[in-house]
Amino acid sequence: MHRAVSVTLLSALVTCAAAVGAQTKYPSKFSPQIAETREVKEALAYLDEKFTDQVAEWITITEIPAKSTFEQKRGEYVKGEFQKLGLEVSVDEIGNVIGRRKGAGGGPTVVFAAHMDTVHPMDTDVRVTKKDGRLYAPGIFDNSASVANMLQAARALDAAKVKTKGDVLFIATVQEELGLNGMNHWLDKNPGKADMVVALDGGLGAVNYGALGIYWSWMRFHGEGSHTVSSRGKPHPGRAAAQCILDIYTIPLPGQDEAVTAVYNVGMLEGGKVVNAIPQDVSFTVDLRTVDPELLTKLDAAIVGKCEAAAKKEGVEFKREWIQKSEAGGRPEQLQDRRAHPIVQTGVDVLTYLGVKLQPGREAVPTGSTDANAAVVRRIPAIAVGRANGGNQHTISEWAEPESAKIATKQIVLLAASLAELSR
Ligand SMILES: [Zn+2]
Repeated sequence: MHRAVSVTLLSALVTCAAAVGAQTKYPSKFSPQIAETREVKEALAYLDEKFTDQVAEWITITEIPAKSTFEQKRGEYVKGEFQKLGLEVSVDEIGNVIGRRKGAGGGPTVVFAAHMDTVHPMDTDVRVTKKDGRLYAPGIFDNSASVANMLQAARALDAAKVKTKGDVLFIATVQEELGLNGMNHWLDKNPGKADMVVALDGGLGAVNYGALGIYWSWMRFHGEGSHTVSSRGKPHPGRAAAQCILDIYTIPLPGQDEAVTAVYNVGMLEGGKVVNAIPQDVSFTVDLRTVDPELLTKLDAAIVGKCEAAAKKEGVEFKREWIQKSEAGGRPEQLQDRRAHPIVQTGVDVLTYLGVKLQPGREAVPTGSTDANAAVVRRIPAIAVGRANGGNQHTISEWAEPESAKIATKQIVLLAASLAELSR
């Protein structure tokens, strides 16, 4: 998940939404028979047998620093492993590593995407430690778990000679944490290639099929500045910024209990270098989120409008600078057709088959904050599914619970066999 979006927040953003159509029986491409075919059973058994190796590789990957835009070494590792598996391997301009597992023909192309990048600076100590049955390291949960799971799922399919009709594309993406840049790049360069997209990200047990819109901006105010002695009555960027922040918080939001809500926050403030002068530059950030594309545009315009008005009144310059921008996938009712696509129920059925307890009425959720968003906004059927149980993501005390990654990896094998369709 590319931002520290809490489950509670995501829940709040789609309150009631998941209840829409909760009674409906949705089509699915999974059946227990698929899981019980000889090859698939062998693939699942491979994952049990080789789990120690999987955890060792997970640690190896985690210990290769890979802050966004610095994923090259991690990418080299993934590329090497894809090659050993005999996949058709390529690395694109931005650094995504793609491994194609050719299908027998006549089936859909299914993309599995695991982002390689982390939010942690390159000099962060990323050595993995073990304590009380958990693995600890920055990035161990978000998202080296998924990269390791994906590689091991590819090996299991290979070892058990699982044949699918459709191609399966394993993509280790870059710059997810910067606004899904890697996935957006691949989808732009390969229009029509992906019939379905499964992002591997987040906690185990979630099936997200929507896209939370997230806008991050710097609001920058600039003036001439002045020594305190001569400052009386002079334009003050700090006063404009302060007024703007107060005004932003008067913008009405839909209630927390409404089907679609929104939230924003001023998270960072900076400006001024000395005590005895009006600062020339004062800035703050805004983090704005909602699943509703129209509401997102409207609220963004309202926030910028407040800043422009405050700057004008104060006589200073104002400029908005984008940090990142991820578009919203739609209100729950706009996403009803997405829910009806078999990819979503297949995700739910696979987890249920694997014994993962899902929250009744919220088995699948019309939001999300992963590489899948890039597909959702392009109307490509997409889900995001989890990688492990873990926590504290994006902090140095990130942790993950190993055993859960095995289930998450079985999930990938079953999704590949179901969505890309077994070829007998
Ligand atoms: Zn992530």
